[in-house]
Amino acid sequence: MSDWYGHLLAKALFPAFEAARGRPTVPLVRYLEQTSYWSTAQLRDLQTGYLRRLLRHAHHHTAYYRRVLDERGLRPEDFDSPADLAKLPLLDRPTLRATMLERTANAPPAAVIRKVTSGSSGQPVEVLYNAESRHWRDATKIRGYSWGGYAIGKRSLHYWGFVPQAGTTWYKRNKTALDRAIKRELFLDCTPRGEGPLREVVANIRQWKPEVIVAYASGAGALARFINDRNLRDWDNIPVLTGAESLLPHDRAEIVRAFGDAFDTYGCREVMLMASECEAHDGFHTSMENMIVEIVVREGGTVRAARPGEIGEVVITDLHNLACPMIRYVNGDLAVAGVDERCKCGRGLSRIGQIQGRVTETMYDGKGNAVGGLVFNILFSTIGHVARSFQVHQHPDGRVVFKVVPYTGDALPSREEQLLRAHAERYLPGAPFTIEIVDNIPLSPAGKRRVVVCEYKAPVAVTR
Ligand SMILES: [Zn+2]
Repeated sequence: MSDWYGHLLAKALFPAFEAARGRPTVPLVRYLEQTSYWSTAQLRDLQTGYLRRLLRHAHHHTAYYRRVLDERGLRPEDFDSPADLAKLPLLDRPTLRATMLERTANAPPAAVIRKVTSGSSGQPVEVLYNAESRHWRDATKIRGYSWGGYAIGKRSLHYWGFVPQAGTTWYKRNKTALDRAIKRELFLDCTPRGEGPLREVVANIRQWKPEVIVAYASGAGALARFINDRNLRDWDNIPVLTGAESLLPHDRAEIVRAFGDAFDTYGCREVMLMASECEAHDGFHTSMENMIVEIVVREGGTVRAARPGEIGEVVITDLHNLACPMIRYVNGDLAVAGVDERCKCGRGLSRIGQIQGRVTETMYDGKGNAVGGLVFNILFSTIGHVARSFQVHQHPDGRVVFKVVPYTGDALPSREEQLLRAHAERYLPGAPFTIEIVDNIPLSPAGKRRVVVCEYKAPVAVTR
């Protein structure tokens, strides 16, 4: 059956919207469709060129990188390949936060986008970037998603978490609603996982007939299990792109049964889509044209590249962010280093293996319904400017304590506190909820910060 609106949207309307906003997203996506099939060596050359440009700009126009390079007697021309990044120090989260002003360039292009992110560590981080960086982010995301069947113009169901937006204006909300209608995107909240909300999602799938689903990994897993247990599938294949959390093998198996195919993606708010699975399902192709992804191992005061198959820390260099350069940023995730051979799909983009360390715990509302813990993780875009860190703790008796370290004083501003309470009421209805101001948040026995700690076990698994 021909789909004229979808065709029109992809071929005419979307390019026109983007061009009208001065965004070269469409030509960039076309370019990326070609570069995907370049050899890995060619792509590394491309990265080296962008890296030198980044280093030249950072050296001339930021106090931080001028010092870092000068102290080591390095010039941008000393970088002959992405592997030469090893000459530079890692940028961990505390340093990223502390050097914000020193890393901000004093020459164009200007930082026009500002984001506060939580990552998985529970400590907010601010990221600034220029317009060009945004275009690369958008284009690499569209390209990576396309491997899983996503395309502009297709009906896409986004089964995702929602964040209460403080200060969102009427105009902005309505503009977003309009965007969704025109772009054929339906957004449903994946956090409530009881019988009622899941039935509603199934009804939406039957009625709206999405051609692709983009979902939180655990949300899609819970939905798929619900569908399989009740034998509700009456549709052809709908590919599911998962993200935000690790896609666990049992969730993948359920998704494949309920929808046909699962494509995992890997991103973080600091740089957006970092890597995604292709049809070969053999690791994640990194967004090489937009960033350098390293997997490193720190041992005995040294840093080395992880060997193929070895687990290491994910380190990112954001190639097109000249406004506030991020070079060798350690984002807090762990991943398996990939093998250096061409993928069966033919693309030359280098690959990484399984991503680890992003599993968030499940919590339970007052009726024992499972609720994804990530819903609190994403709160940082709402309260990140007033809280240094936080942790959500569900005790064995079911009560939920929200521990928070404010930047100043011994209380949260009332507006943020209200938002927080509204959030808890919406996602954990019936669970007693208290806010506790603390001086610091203890680390886990393994030394990691955990945003969600759940000691409560639901008496009956209501969602199964
Ligand atoms: Zn591939």
